[in-house]
This record gives sequence, structure tokens and C-alpha cells, in this order.
Amino acid sequence: MKIFEMIARMGHEQVVFCSDPSSDYRSIIVIHSTALGPAVGGTRFWNYSSEEEAVVDALRLARGMTYKNAVAGLPFGGGKSVIIGDNRTTDREKIFRAHGRFIETLGGRYIAGEDVGTSTTDIGYASLETRHVGGLEGKSGDPSIMTAHGVFHAIRASAHHRWGSDDLSGMTIAIQGCGHVGYNLAKEMHRAGAKLIVTDIDDESVNRVVTEFGAARVEPEAIYGVEADIFAPCALGGIINDETIPQLKVEIVAGAANNQLLEERHGLMLEERGILYAPDYVANAGGVINGTCIELLGWDASRTHEKVRRIYDTMLEVFEVARESGIPTSEAADRLAERRLKEGLDGKG
Ligand code: NAD
Repeated sequence: MKIFEMIARMGHEQVVFCSDPSSDYRSIIVIHSTALGPAVGGTRFWNYSSEEEAVVDALRLARGMTYKNAVAGLPFGGGKSVIIGDNRTTDREKIFRAHGRFIETLGGRYIAGEDVGTSTTDIGYASLETRHVGGLEGKSGDPSIMTAHGVFHAIRASAHHRWGSDDLSGMTIAIQGCGHVGYNLAKEMHRAGAKLIVTDIDDESVNRVVTEFGAARVEPEAIYGVEADIFAPCALGGIINDETIPQLKVEIVAGAANNQLLEERHGLMLEERGILYAPDYVANAGGVINGTCIELLGWDASRTHEKVRRIYDTMLEVFEVARESGIPTSEAADRLAERRLKEGLDGKG
């Protein structure tokens, strides 16, 4: 693979390959952009099938963080790190302390947190070697509550744009995944008077939402075809694709899952079917807003809460850019992020 060509095209600043054989540690730390501030993004621990796959994943995820942080109006850039290996290993302290030492060498240009395959305990080990981590136990808390709250505001904004009112009472929402975010979103939607249709591959998770919020349950594959107003993907990426789009009987897709569109063209496909798409990284920024504002900026809860609420306004802005430019909302979100990046740079210049 041509790494320099790739990072030049995607705009990355720095890619660091780290190795510490004594702790069986191999990682790639990627800084996509520090234009708006230190690069913030989690550490993923994953058994990649090839080194190339790990590099590509890290590059994409890091760039995604730049866009997500920029569009959320945070004074942070984007980065990500991936540790290559079996994330079920119990021998974690030496791996994450090694990770912490490498993060420390970057002098604060990159700030790590948890991601797929890592926990707050792991980040706690890294913190023994560096200050440049966030999301520690006892600090900003479980991010999924604020992620769900942000998604709730994204749904309200979508409803306002589509139906002229953000009152969700009597609306039906289909939620895919009743895990951390899905559960909290179900709670907020129930409180707002919406009817819920839910699914999960895990019985316990789905039953909890059925019992607590009176949700109707469907089998995992049936969720795409249910009659509802809103579809909220809160489980996996890539679920908006050639197979699922024709099945959808909703007017809005707005949820927490990362990378919901399998390919970029699926944003246009949704639009052609008359379905409004709330771009995922705009909708699901509540967790990162909460973590960074409280832990890195030292904000209090109410100021942070207000920032999460502003996902509503940002989402309306995305819809406006899409309408003005005649482009899908997914593309409009990227444009807005790029505009904010440029404004940030001009402001610094
Ligand atoms: P989670 O692991 O707690 O929940 C995911 C749920 O989806 C689980 O209950 C799982 O059983 C279920 N699931 C998996 N495959 C499924 C399938 N095929 N059909 C139905 N259900 C299925 O994860 P989470 O923290 O709730 O995150 C959900 C999504 O939101 C992920 O894509 C995550 O990347 C994204 N996200 C989460 C946060 C956060 O703060 N937790 C922030 C931003 C984005």
C-alpha cells in the first residue's frame, strides 16, 4: 500500500507505528488534524486480519474524528489509535502502559479514550504513563447517556425539518440495538410520548426495553421493514445499504451507530426514496462533547448539557446546507465540518 499517497490524499498529519515486543504491544497512532486543537479520539483494540487493514481503519477513524469534533464545534482535532491483537486478553496492564508511554511521546498532540475493545480500566492503565487520556472512571461517566441525549435532539431536529414540528408524541420509532445508547434513547423517546418498536440479538437487552417502556419487539431482520416514522440504528455500521433501503417504511433515519451508510452513495439513495437522513457523526457526538467539555475543558454539567442540546441546531444547519446546495445530507455534514475547520484555521491565522 502507498501510505504517503494515502495520507496526503486524506490530509493526515502524522502516523506513528509503535512496537514494544516485551509487552506484546503493536499499535498505530494516527493524528489526522490538530488544526482546531489536540487530536482527540479513542483507542480501538482489534484483531485485524492484516496490517494493511489496521492502517486503513486507523486512518479512516482518525479523519472521522476530525469531522465529528469540528462539526460539534469542539476546539479539538481528530485522531485515533488501534492496538493490534486479541482484545479478550487478560494481560492488559503491560499493553496499555506501553500504549500510554507512546501517547506521552506525542506531548499532548493526541488524547486517547476508550473505543471498541477497550474499557475505562484499560485507559486507567495508560494514565499511569501519560496525562493525555480522557474518559477515566469517576470523571465524565458513561458517555452513552449523553450520546443518546444528542441523538434525541437530532431526531427532534429531523422531525422539525420533515414535519414542521419537533413534538414526538404519538410518533413511532424503530430502534435497532438496545445496548447502552439504544436503551437510553428508548427511555427518552418513551418519555417524549413516542411508541417504540425494538430489536436486539441479545434477549436480555431487548426484554428490558419491552418491560420498562412498553416497546413492541421484532426479530433482528424484521426491523428494516416495520411501519414507523423514524428508524434509529443503534447497533452496527453499514446497515443502510442496497438491501435494506428498499425495505424501509420510515421518513427519517437518525441514530447513534457509526458509519451507518455502507457506501457514500447510499446517502443519495435514501434521499431518492424520500427519506431524511440525519448524518451519524453529527447525531452521535453527545458522548464526545460530554467527555471533552467536562474533562478537557473543565466545563460544568449545565454548560456541557447546552452544548449537547445544540446538536439540534447543527442538524438543522446540515439540512439547510443540503437544501441550498442540492446535495445529500451526508455530504452536507462533511461540507459543514470542512467549513468549520477552515474557519478555525482562518481564526488562528
Ligand atoms: P452496545 O454494545 O452497548 O450496544 C449495541 C447493541 O446492539 C447490543 O445490545 C447488541 O446486542 C446489539 N446488536 C448487535 N448486533 C445486532 C443486530 N444485528 N441486530 C440488532 N441488535 C444488534 O453499544 P453502544 O455503546 O450502545 O453503541 C451503539 C452504537 O452507537 C455503536 O455503533 C457505537 O459505535 C455507536 N456510538 C456509541 C457511542 C457511545 O457513547 N456509546 C458514541 C458514539 C457512537
